[in-house]
Amino acid sequence: MKKDKYQRMADALRADGADETAIEKFVAMEKEHDEFARNSGITDIAAYKKWMALPEETRRACLTSAFCLKCMSTTIAPGYAVRQDKIGIVIEGVCSKCGRRVVRCCY
Ligand SMILES: [Zn+2]
Repeated sequence: MKKDKYQRMADALRADGADETAIEKFVAMEKEHDEFARNSGITDIAAYKKWMALPEETRRACLTSAFCLKCMSTTIAPGYAVRQDKIGIVIEGVCSKCGRRVVRCCY
């Protein structure tokens, strides 16, 4: 049987020493992320791992300190994508208020 993307992801995480709870969480996030990322097509497990390794406080701070030029909201809606860029982790999402695309760099 051919393994799907999520199974391969779980295998990779397992090989990396992640515990099953974490793996489940990553895979669930990845699925959620895929829903969102259908248009942009960005999936970066390495960035996700880095992102998830940050303290929850830090992640929350990043998600609530983005800036929407249209409505001045600073919160990224759930379902954002995370990828690794030259400058660090980049969060791509939409404004929780108006749905405009918001990108924020984070570490
Ligand atoms: Zn907005």
